[in-house]
Amino acid sequence: MAIKRILVYPEGCLKQVAKPVTVFNDKGLKVLVQDLADTMYDAPGVGLAAPQIGVSLRVAVTDVDWRSEDGIKNHQVWINPEFLWKSDEMEIGEEGCLSLPDIYGDVERPNAVRLRWYDLEGKPYEQDFEGFQAVALQHEFDHLDGKVFIDYFSRLKRNMIIKKLKKKYLS
Ligand SMILES: [Zn+2]
Repeated sequence: MAIKRILVYPEGCLKQVAKPVTVFNDKGLKVLVQDLADTMYDAPGVGLAAPQIGVSLRVAVTDVDWRSEDGIKNHQVWINPEFLWKSDEMEIGEEGCLSLPDIYGDVERPNAVRLRWYDLEGKPYEQDFEGFQAVALQHEFDHLDGKVFIDYFSRLKRNMIIKKLKKKYLS
């Protein structure tokens, strides 16, 4: 078990496009996923992508239910995720991010998606998601392309937020 430091935007590899995983069934990959889960639960959060702990690989974990009524931890692992389809129907919801402490704002996203991804052994999966799960997955996988939710804001608003984060956390 290892809790890693979560990078603050725009630190480190948070603005980079992460590389796909090419070696599965690998100790290093298992350790990375466990570190992501440990760090996410400790934060606490409902999703964490590898670039947020300084690893530029297309890996993320989510657990959108554990903070609700039962509190059972059961993280899902997403490796090399790829959206095969996104709905035309959009939904606006408030988002926050562990890499942008205390910043919140409304983001409009497709409210349903079809996803292909791989597990730790390299087995492929395909499934449709909607609602909060679909939004959470889009947020996490944006990190794998070096994007964060404030990239959906105006340049003026985004620059103000980045200035604030740099002053508070990175100076
Ligand atoms: Zn995030």
